Amino acid sequence: MNAIPRQKPIFRFAPSPNGPLHLGHALSAILNHDMADEAGGRFLLRIEDIDQARCTPEFEAGIFADLAWLGLSWEKPVRRQSDHFPAYQDALRSLIERGLVYPAFLTRGEVKTRVAAGEIDGNPWPRDPDGTPLYPPDDRLRNDEERKRLLGAGLKHAWRLDMEKAILAIGRPLHWQESGDGERGDIPANPAAWGDVVLSRSDAPSSYHLSVVVDDAAQGVTHVVRGLDLFHATSVHRLLQALLGLPQPLYHHHRLIVGEDGKKLSKSERDTGIAECRRQGWSPAELRRRIGL
Ligand code: GLU
Repeated sequence: MNAIPRQKPIFRFAPSPNGPLHLGHALSAILNHDMADEAGGRFLLRIEDIDQARCTPEFEAGIFADLAWLGLSWEKPVRRQSDHFPAYQDALRSLIERGLVYPAFLTRGEVKTRVAAGEIDGNPWPRDPDGTPLYPPDDRLRNDEERKRLLGAGLKHAWRLDMEKAILAIGRPLHWQESGDGERGDIPANPAAWGDVVLSRSDAPSSYHLSVVVDDAAQGVTHVVRGLDLFHATSVHRLLQALLGLPQPLYHHHRLIVGEDGKKLSKSERDTGIAECRRQGWSPAELRRRIGL
């Protein structure tokens, strides 16, 4: 009898080409690459460029150059999110058809005003795990007629998940398996903490949350290895996977590399960029040592 073929583990590094890669990205890329190697698995690179206003071909070329200099190799062709907008739109359409998302018309300025008004008597407005105020309920509470009227008038809008309805539609607690540097084991997902997350914007046909789950499934990703800054976002990803009937990968959220001020590195800090380290004469081995590998 033939043995059932076991799927090879699939890992991915998924940077956004909206700035130069820094030492935190180096840690993520190397961990993914080395863990794939040890598991006899595959290592993919995915370019997360849905934000076309901030992503550039130059930053993308920088990603390839930095990873090659680190001595990493990855499968080709590389998936680029901007080549797959119709796939995210299909996923969004299925959620619209099930009444689980709604058109959201408030501008950033209007949200700010609503939040400030809500906090006027000292009541803190609820915030998501990243500290962003939750989206006000105004658009969720509109009736169908009003929605149709506003859509018909051509008003700019995003699409947001109706979090309460979505959680009810699943009707069971969600979890994920975590093996990273923070909490480990069976982690209960808490998507409600994020409120009505945005799934597509008027200027970008998909959000990070939607495209990441669609892509991980499309690429057969079995292991998601990324920074601890995305630990809580996994709750939203688990909910979207359950809603869209997508498989769930295993998760490993690794420690973050912090700057001298103890803060997480950002792409604007050029002094901790991989390319800058290279210009200063570091070897890839020295870079590994400096990030504790
Ligand atoms: N594109 C995201 C970033 O650059 C990473 C997404 C992920 O690994 O899930 O932070």
